[in-house]
Amino acid sequence: RSSLRIGLIPADGIGREVIPAARRTLEALGSDLPKLEFHDLLAGFDLFTKTGAALPNETIDIEGGCDAALFGAVSSPSRKVAGYSSPIVALRKELDLYANIRPVVSVEKPSVDLVVVRENTECLYVKQETLTHTDSGREARATRLITERASRRIGTMAFELALARPRKQVTIIHKSNVLSVTDGLFRETVRAVPRLPGVSGRFDSVAIAEQIVDSAVYRLFREPEIYDVMVAPNLYGDILSDAAAALVGSLGLVPSVNAGDSFVMGEPVHGSAPDIEGQGIANPLAAIRSAALMLRHLKYEDAADRIDTAVNHVIREGRVLTPDLGGKSKTDEVVEAVLRRL
Ligand code: NAD
Ligand code: MN
Repeated sequence: RSSLRIGLIPADGIGREVIPAARRTLEALGSDLPKLEFHDLLAGFDLFTKTGAALPNETIDIEGGCDAALFGAVSSPSRKVAGYSSPIVALRKELDLYANIRPVVSVEKPSVDLVVVRENTECLYVKQETLTHTDSGREARATRLITERASRRIGTMAFELALARPRKQVTIIHKSNVLSVTDGLFRETVRAVPRLPGVSGRFDSVAIAEQIVDSAVYRLFREPEIYDVMVAPNLYGDILSDAAAALVGSLGLVPSVNAGDSFVMGEPVHGSAPDIEGQGIANPLAAIRSAALMLRHLKYEDAADRIDTAVNHVIREGRVLTPDLGGKSKTDEVVEAVLRRL
């Protein structure tokens, strides 16, 4: 590549504070990367309230003009708003970014070093909900979709990631003791990945474990060291990775990428944080680490390592931290501390 074109979609709330921080960090990498071109793209609930569209076509067409993207966060109201649906959920589906990869690594606690691999396109997030009125009151139903195809490709992604890690273990998260058909299919399909035609022994060195989702959360807090790569259907993966974020002290530290076969989009795990929006105190490190993860997926490993090393240094040093980590610093001061260490 002679240039690297990165779409920036800050969207709502602190997304608009942490995406510029990630951009500054990327710009500071200099000759470790090809010439950077940034494309500002729109999405979000604020945009929806102004224009009636949460995800403009130009943003959906991101693959046309960009090699990769960074997404901030969206504010999705908990009440139903006519015509609105979450643009991040839609974007993951439109671009077929079927894997949400969320590494949770503690700088202080060696016991916390795991990756949550979350299926990103189906489960309850197909959002097929119905409400009916019955004699005894309203009745709501949701469809939960699990396909062999999606389970197989997320399973394969999990095994590939485990293969590249020292521990080489995949733990399948499910609830097939209760949901034997849907979660049963997920569990069985992921378990069968090493025996797929064409895989031929590639994953022989990877150990397979499994855990029911509720006890997985319990054990995650008591003995996080038992986990390496956790692979889960969409909803369990969402919950598990926010829970795992508690192990490292703040959601403001945990990055992710949404990955498909042809495109990658970095995205901090946190939301738009309306409680701290506009105060300049959002922790930018999750977004900065998401930029590093994005670079890693594009095979710019050295540049990604430089970012991660600088971020880890700033956290370990503990002098320039935002309030979520007990510090007194502003977003910009944390960015500058990272840039000094690059
Ligand atoms: P949240 O992640 O926005 O915030 C949870 C708590 O963590 C808040 O107290 C917040 O201040 C804090 N926090 C989060 N990120 C932080 C950061 N970078 N620095 C410092 N503190 C941080 O979750 P929520 O409050 O449940 O949701 C708020 C909105 O975000 C909702 O509208 C929700 O729909 C949306 N949301 C979006 C995404 C996404 O875009 N992928 C994910 C989760 C929630
Ligand atoms: Mn979440």
